[in-house]
Amino acid sequence: MRKLIIAGNWKMNKGLGETRSFLQAVVPQLNKLDLGRVIPLVAPAYPFLTEALREAFASPLMVSAQDVSERNDGAYTGEVSAPMLASLGLKYCIIGHSERRQYHCETDASVNQRLFKLLDQGLVPIVCIGETLAQRDAGDTEKVVLSQLEGGLKDLKLESGTEIIIAYEPVWAIGTGRTATPQQAQEVHAIIRKWIGETYGQSVAQNLSILYGGSVKPDNIKELLECSDIDGGLIGGASLKENDFLAMINTAIGLT
Ligand code: PEP
Repeated sequence: MRKLIIAGNWKMNKGLGETRSFLQAVVPQLNKLDLGRVIPLVAPAYPFLTEALREAFASPLMVSAQDVSERNDGAYTGEVSAPMLASLGLKYCIIGHSERRQYHCETDASVNQRLFKLLDQGLVPIVCIGETLAQRDAGDTEKVVLSQLEGGLKDLKLESGTEIIIAYEPVWAIGTGRTATPQQAQEVHAIIRKWIGETYGQSVAQNLSILYGGSVKPDNIKELLECSDIDGGLIGGASLKENDFLAMINTAIGLT
């Protein structure tokens, strides 16, 4: 069975004290749960990764970075590299989030470079893809998503033991309160899984977790997770509140 990942992308929210208090409230609750194949994960901002790792130590909570440099070291002010993230003991990193694509000119090619930097360090990339509203309205969703996959995963050989996660996040649903319907999300997830199967084989496709992101919250997560190709959520706003985060994890557990 595939992992069911409930991932909180905190974006540029929560400082040190808020990171600590969230985790001190949530980690003891997670420790009491029988999570099975549900993986809870949070992605705090860079300065608080160490604190998050410390608070999550020996618990089921995973910690992720929100981005990584496409280079390993050198004169790149403000950048954080994959070897640096690996040196923290981190296991996951989001790449290609639509906000990075929109505000920081990330492209499929730069996502691809990041992907290899992470894999070289043994980190698991959470690769975000998704169409804009204009692209959906033009009937281009499948074309856009497949070209992001082709570009972002270019030259990738998914050998056994190499893990990646895909997050389908329609741009029009991120932070807008407008969630894709389960049917809309499932349709695209099935397209993604089919492409993974054709490219890497059925065994890779059946084991790879594909998360949905875009205004997921406690009220709508169940119907999304009930879809056969949705293996969790990448959740922004609703992951910032302890109770909502725990509620979504409990919903996921209830479905396993
Ligand atoms: C996200 O940050 O990836 C996201 C989907 O945000 P929200 O849940 O707030 O729409």
